[in-house]
Amino acid sequence: MSGIDASMRARRIGGRAIAHRRSDAYLWVNPFLRPSASGPRTPPLPAPTERERIMSDTMPARREKVIKSDAAWKAELTPEQYRVTRRAGTERAFTGPFWDETRAGLYACICCGEPLFRSETKFNAGCGWPSFFTPVEEEVIDEHDDTSFLMHRTEVRCARCDAHLGHVFPDGPPPTGLRYCINGTALTFFPDED
Ligand SMILES: [Zn+2]
Repeated sequence: MSGIDASMRARRIGGRAIAHRRSDAYLWVNPFLRPSASGPRTPPLPAPTERERIMSDTMPARREKVIKSDAAWKAELTPEQYRVTRRAGTERAFTGPFWDETRAGLYACICCGEPLFRSETKFNAGCGWPSFFTPVEEEVIDEHDDTSFLMHRTEVRCARCDAHLGHVFPDGPPPTGLRYCINGTALTFFPDED
């Protein structure tokens, strides 16, 4: 029988092909399940609460967006944090937090606590703002075109809560060549424990 004949035959006996797929899926889900005539063919799924607990242990909570009213943000943040993060403000250079921070640790969003940058990717750009060549993961940052002040820049925001963080420029160091120029006011810092 030629190869073409074989494939046509497989299509004609579609019922059997489906049966094979079910069998494969069963093996893939749990190859170590002991054969049992009376037992369940597939492992039971954990209850939703258990699944949620496992997911919260293994996945960052950032999958959930943080959406709050303007009034709620205003009540939670200092006036400067509110102006920078919710009104796309910019702190004056060399006046905000962390531009000269050199300790090892994690920088997170001041609004929602999302981990954004690591100290290993921070560098001294001499500009008076904390500068990083990459975020901890691409997904934690949203980029937006910013044409204010007669310039064309790329604004960066926290992907989880939409906080304005700063801008990204193509004049950073290797390995990315990017410079995430971030308002320290938009960040909170967690030093590594020794
Ligand atoms: Zn955030």
